Amino acid sequence: MASFHPDADLLLRYSAGTCGAALQLAISSHLALCNECAYAVQRLDAISGMAISEAQPTLVSKKCLQQIFDRCKTPVTAQPAAQVTDTYPAPLSGLISQNPLKWESRGKDIQQAILLKEQSGTVAYMMKIRKGAEIPEHNHRGDEFVLILEGSMIDQRGATLRGDFVTTDAAFTHKPRAGDDADCVCLVVATGGVKFTKGLLRVLNVLPWQ
Ligand SMILES: [Zn+2]
Repeated sequence: MASFHPDADLLLRYSAGTCGAALQLAISSHLALCNECAYAVQRLDAISGMAISEAQPTLVSKKCLQQIFDRCKTPVTAQPAAQVTDTYPAPLSGLISQNPLKWESRGKDIQQAILLKEQSGTVAYMMKIRKGAEIPEHNHRGDEFVLILEGSMIDQRGATLRGDFVTTDAAFTHKPRAGDDADCVCLVVATGGVKFTKGLLRVLNVLPWQ
């Protein structure tokens, strides 16, 4: 069972459909691995449904009404069956089955594959870190959300394992390390880049996985 979860605000934004495509992917993938959060979202969805059913009718413009009707008429395209693997939860494997991962090396220990980029600059990507390897000390230029899918990642908050959803804000400085047992594979959503705080990388401020 996961030990790290999206907070209540994130789950609420997910249920309301306002968290953006990248976080939608990461949270739905977490829900596939976490019964506790899946149940919480079911309850939030039910509450939203009740609120809608009890809402008072309101007048909308002709144009708005037409747009709603147009959207209802848009045909739904059949999606190919999701390729569910032991490693990737269904929402993620569904995306990968349509857009196979293109892994790129970022240094000798890290590989990255972009999943999607939002217009806002938020990006979702897969990251693979060689077992036992350490990412140099850094903080962030925005929020970062990491879903562990394979292996483990360790920093001052402890070890995070498959299914854990870890939120890191810009003020947090860490030097995460992949566990020694297996390569760590994770899904990352970042609203900004990373900022190295020590050594040559600090001087160059190279962003190896952007
Ligand atoms: Zn959870």
